[in-house]
Parts: sequence; C-alpha cells; structure tokens
Amino acid sequence: MTTTARKVAPRRGARKGAGTSEAVAVETIAVTCGFCEGKGRDRFGIMSALSTCCVCGGLGTVSVKTPYVRCAFCQGAGVYPSSRQTCTACGGVGVHPVEGPSPQCPHCLGTGVDPHSETGFYCLVCHGAGVVPEGGSRLSMDAESGK
Ligand SMILES: [Zn+2]
Ligand SMILES: [Zn+2]
Ligand SMILES: [Zn+2]
Repeated sequence: MTTTARKVAPRRGARKGAGTSEAVAVETIAVTCGFCEGKGRDRFGIMSALSTCCVCGGLGTVSVKTPYVRCAFCQGAGVYPSSRQTCTACGGVGVHPVEGPSPQCPHCLGTGVDPHSETGFYCLVCHGAGVVPEGGSRLSMDAESGK
C-alpha cells in the first residue's frame, strides 16, 4: 500500500501582524536654548559676535524629552557658573530630561553643585539637575539599564 501522507497546508496570509513593533513614544518638546537665550548666536561671541550657538546649532531651540527640569547647576542659563563655557551638566541647554517624579537630590540638596567639590563641580549624583529619579541616583539607573 502506498500512502501519500503528504499534506501541504496552504499558508496564505500568515504574515498578518508581523513586524508590529510597539515603539515607546518619547515626547520631545522644543525648549528655548539656555545658552543663547533663543538667539541662536554664541552668547559671549567668543569666536565672533555672529558665531552660531554651539548648543542649538543656531536654531534657538533644542529638542528635549519631556518631562524635564531646569538645570539646577546653571539655573537654566546653560552657562557653566563663573565661566564662559557651556554648562557641562546640561550641555548648555539649561534643562535635564527626567523619567518622572523626581525628588530633590539628597547629595547637593537641589543645588546641583557637589558640596564636596572645591572647584564647584556639578553634583555627580544628580548630574547637576538638582533632582534624582525616584528610588535612586542617575548613576545607579545607568548601571541597571544594561539588560
Ligand atoms: Zn543656542
Ligand atoms: Zn546646566
Ligand atoms: Zn545632586
């Protein structure tokens, strides 16, 4: 007896729903550039009075993820305190994106300045933001994100 047990089921339209990736929608908002105050020019005209702001590229605004907080270290000015450099804590934008509700940083007490730094470096726990994500510092968050 010869049995042909070959059954090839036709597979048509089996690709439905494939490739549906649920990308997490990250909301970004255009905030006024702290360093140039929205003028798009270098705040101090270090190169020339007409030189383009290195933070926003001359746009006057910077796209920032929401929610965000004002940079405590430079108080939103985007300028490194007592210098003409861009704020290294926030990159000159003047704000820090946060994950959500962020309590005051216990290390710098919200000032954004490292209390143990003689040179007035920004607080490494909150990176100058003055706030930390709920449940820990930014440093520990970075360590955990390596899934
Ligand atoms: Zn700018
Ligand atoms: Zn700053
Ligand atoms: Zn801090």
